[in-house]
Amino acid sequence: MTGMPLTFYNSLTREFEVFAPRDPGNVRVYSCGPTVYHYAHVGNLRAYVFTDTLTRTITSRGWPLTHVINITDVGHLTSDADAGDDKMEAAARRSGRDIWAIAKHYTDAFKQNLIDLNIRMPTHMPKATDHVAEMIAWGEKIAPRHCYLLDDGLYFDTTTVPDYGRLAGAVDDAAHGRIETVAGKRHPQDFAIWRTTPPGETRQMEWDSPWGRGAPGWHLECSVMATKYLGPAFDIHTGGIDHREIHHPNEIAQNQAHCECADTGASLWMHNNFLVDRTGKMSKSSGDFLALARLIERGFHPLSYRLMCLQAHYRSELEFSWENLAAAQVRLKRWVHAIEGLRARDGSGDGSIAGAYVEQLDAALSDDLATPRALPVLDGLLADKKLSPADRLATLAAFDAVLGLNLGVLTRKALRTRPGDATIEEAAIEARLADRREARAARDFPRSDAIRDELAHAGVELMDGDPLGWDWKLPTARD
Ligand code: AMP
Ligand code: ZN
Repeated sequence: MTGMPLTFYNSLTREFEVFAPRDPGNVRVYSCGPTVYHYAHVGNLRAYVFTDTLTRTITSRGWPLTHVINITDVGHLTSDADAGDDKMEAAARRSGRDIWAIAKHYTDAFKQNLIDLNIRMPTHMPKATDHVAEMIAWGEKIAPRHCYLLDDGLYFDTTTVPDYGRLAGAVDDAAHGRIETVAGKRHPQDFAIWRTTPPGETRQMEWDSPWGRGAPGWHLECSVMATKYLGPAFDIHTGGIDHREIHHPNEIAQNQAHCECADTGASLWMHNNFLVDRTGKMSKSSGDFLALARLIERGFHPLSYRLMCLQAHYRSELEFSWENLAAAQVRLKRWVHAIEGLRARDGSGDGSIAGAYVEQLDAALSDDLATPRALPVLDGLLADKKLSPADRLATLAAFDAVLGLNLGVLTRKALRTRPGDATIEEAAIEARLADRREARAARDFPRSDAIRDELAHAGVELMDGDPLGWDWKLPTARD
């Protein structure tokens, strides 16, 4: 890639800023990770497609990167307000399972999601429960000047730091449900650093602390792990837009209390918007949500979901629908089809890179990661008859490096995933299709229709209108 300056939208200053690493020898990025009480839903995964686009763009500029995605395996409450149950404890109680086993199961599932989506593994994936001693030490340092003790834990007084909530902007606390039930809190925005286990209750995960036996607050975890792996002042902190209101302002407050200065930790705060469905924001706690596995079961390739994400700007809301996903899969197939065609014409592998296309790609990503603008550039490249197949293939690598769609590797066959609930094997589908082509050639339309119906019954939908001649596609929405 060329050296075009990268411009990112900073949620903290609410301005576009040219990215200048604190240390060009090591760009440091922290991304709030999943709470592992359940599978990640595809909305959560949108957050990591975004961070992967971000970190790929950074490394494509030649900057070395340290990236952290934490695993929240304790402390995240069932409500953003400072009351309620720990999500992990609640899940353990509901299922009667061991909390550590739950955390491991969903952490492994999350890692598999990253692999399926071709999201690069971060440098570090620290677990909150491995850092409790450091959290206690952090609490001890800030407690005398910034915290107060209530019956149920140690609370942070948000008036003790400069400019609390600058990131969130003017928030109406009542509207955000922040005025809630913790008795004795000095200000509605104050939050728990440590939550003591109520008398008579037991938790599966609890530790001794100077403030009683209990568990750390969720916000504290991220300050501690970010600082441990990236230092007190690093480059970029990411998360979903929900974190802009409470979780991240609280991290900033803790960082300021810890350094006794006005530093916010990261200089750049970036937030992806939500994936929504027709009923509103997708959420894990609602129970009925879409995990990546469900998309795969329906026969979609995970990279079709990645492409669906890239078709929207990360700061725009994106609506999930099976139709959108199917459209993304068709687009991916067309590219793969075109690339296989190029490869068939030139398998030599030694083309030269078409700089003009790389520059356009670079320009789109430099503009606050405008992936929707980068995709038509790829269309243009693949269709450019003035470039030899070898040159087009060589240039493709620059797109794969930042978009992560694996186009250099994906095959038509891989995209023809048989849906999990189809009752027919691929060879049988192909055989029936050959029969149908014959029937159509003989203008025997009743027979052709009968074969179509038979396949539909077995869970395979035909695509007669596809100009590229993809013979069948996977079933889309049934709900
Ligand atoms: P959680 O596992 O709930 O702690 O969330 C993991 C990440 O997903 C966080 O960065 C959230 O802000 C983000 N997130 C949660 N819901 C959505 C959604 N519907 N769309 C996009 N990002 C989301
Ligand atoms: Zn966090």
